[in-house]
Amino acid sequence: MTFTLHGQAVSRGVAIGRAVLVASSRLDVAHYFIAPEQAEAELARLRRARDAVITEIEQLRAGLVHDGMEAHAELAALLEVHLMLLQDVQLQDGVKHWVRERHYNAEWALTTQFEQVARQFDEMTDPYLRERKADLEQIVERMLRVLQGVGSPVAAPTVGDGATTGDPLVLIAHDLAPADMLQFKHSVFAGFVTDVGGKTSHTAIVARSMDIPAVVGARNASQLVQQDDWVIVDGDAGVLIVDPTPMLLAEYGYKQRQGVVERERLARIKNTPAVTLDGQRIELLANIEQPEDTVPALSVGAVGVGLFRTEFLFMGRGGRLPDEEEQYEAYRRAVEGMHGLPVTIRTVDVGADKPLDHHRRDEHLNPALGLRAIRWSLAEPAMFLTQLRAILRAAAHGKVNILFPMLAHLGEIRQVHAMLAQAREQLDRRGAVYGPVRIGAMIEVPAAALAVRLFVRHFDFLSIGTNDLIQYALAIDRVDESVTHLYDPLHPAVLRLVADTIAACVEAGKPVSVCGEMAGDATMTRLLLGLGLRSFSMHPTQILAVKQQVLRSDTRKLRAWAQQVVASDEPALLLAD
Ligand code: PEP
Ligand code: MG
Repeated sequence: MTFTLHGQAVSRGVAIGRAVLVASSRLDVAHYFIAPEQAEAELARLRRARDAVITEIEQLRAGLVHDGMEAHAELAALLEVHLMLLQDVQLQDGVKHWVRERHYNAEWALTTQFEQVARQFDEMTDPYLRERKADLEQIVERMLRVLQGVGSPVAAPTVGDGATTGDPLVLIAHDLAPADMLQFKHSVFAGFVTDVGGKTSHTAIVARSMDIPAVVGARNASQLVQQDDWVIVDGDAGVLIVDPTPMLLAEYGYKQRQGVVERERLARIKNTPAVTLDGQRIELLANIEQPEDTVPALSVGAVGVGLFRTEFLFMGRGGRLPDEEEQYEAYRRAVEGMHGLPVTIRTVDVGADKPLDHHRRDEHLNPALGLRAIRWSLAEPAMFLTQLRAILRAAAHGKVNILFPMLAHLGEIRQVHAMLAQAREQLDRRGAVYGPVRIGAMIEVPAAALAVRLFVRHFDFLSIGTNDLIQYALAIDRVDESVTHLYDPLHPAVLRLVADTIAACVEAGKPVSVCGEMAGDATMTRLLLGLGLRSFSMHPTQILAVKQQVLRSDTRKLRAWAQQVVASDEPALLLAD
């Protein structure tokens, strides 16, 4: 039966495919297709893993019997249940199905079948039986551990390698941490849907950077959709259609093709300089998460990187931080990847919805207001100095700017300058080679926007982080889908903060950029140009649509209109004209 779920539109385009339900705790298993002739070998891997776990449990049970203690009786019964579950026919047959018919690798097949069986447990009325889900989960975890230790997967083919069944796949999960998303960057999935998340949550941002249709905040999607259901993800409207009728499939198939035609049309302006009708040269920069993102950035004609979110080098590593060499290599690769174009490297911004370890969300009540971004860096001076040294060394290979996130206080401004001086001294003492850098501050806390002249005096350039600026100005958690309707880039207060920040920089002759999602929203381009903005940083996937707006704009005609929009009670009405 066809039904529709509504969420937040985060990434444009339409994806049509079969649903793959994944629990976030098991996301770090590999997902790839095997060649059909590898199926038996893959099943043998699974059998070996199962046998190893059976041996492990039998040894545990033997140890209990040996102890002979009464208190162990309950544990022994539990181990018995685990042994039974390991032999469970439904689990085994299901896994075989995913490997033989769908060509899933062993880990993926096992977790998929687990999701199927777990659902049945959830529906049971008997509380004892319902609790057996946790047991099943434990044995699956054990098997995964063994599998990950036993030989590694061969190649990781992607869709189109011929090893697949041909059906595109859409990933459906309750939640995906930003680090999980990154793991899927080169994956087989044609679309993503999550139950939770807001439009500018970092999960949504990474989805957008992947240019894959995605919907977040779709509430109960992971409960209502069944494994293998056909689904349509409309990333423009924020809609998920489950089990679509042939007519809907035809309609969305058409929309999908239109999207391809539109992209091809935009690709024609790739090499056209971003200059307005009145001759203003506009800088269109890329936001990146990994050094290899410089490739798509250059392919759409980005003239530099305006925001390298370095926290993705730090996340999902079980708390083990990258050392100076690893960071230096990553930054150098990004700098060299841009072939002489400038790269703005932002110091680590973990905390809130970007926890260091993706299995351990920040437990604080208000993580967005807690020890996040620069606050964390200043609280961990050794870590911070390591990062600063790595960036300074990478600056020997090309044009580098350092950007500091979430500054609000003069004391913090002084500290970052002092830390930078200290990092240089440390490198001097070692005789290490490093290069010059321009230093910038993100304006993303309302206090910073209101005190913008203080920042103008202490930095070479400013970059407006509208995602956080909106979150903090309007007091709405950017991750919380229940308040996402209040997330309004066109709120008069937000526009005033953005307009004043740009004006203060223009007045002082200091470069200013916008690097939040607002910069990549083509419906906002004319307004920002009218406010005097000449530098925009966004996902490479958005650059051409914004360039199209730039090419059609005359900034002289936009100036007065932009001031009217900012002063209006209902800016959205004026923007739509
Ligand atoms: C912002 O807040 O607008 C920004 C660019 O930083 P992030 O989205 O990484 O918090
Ligand atoms: Mg931010």
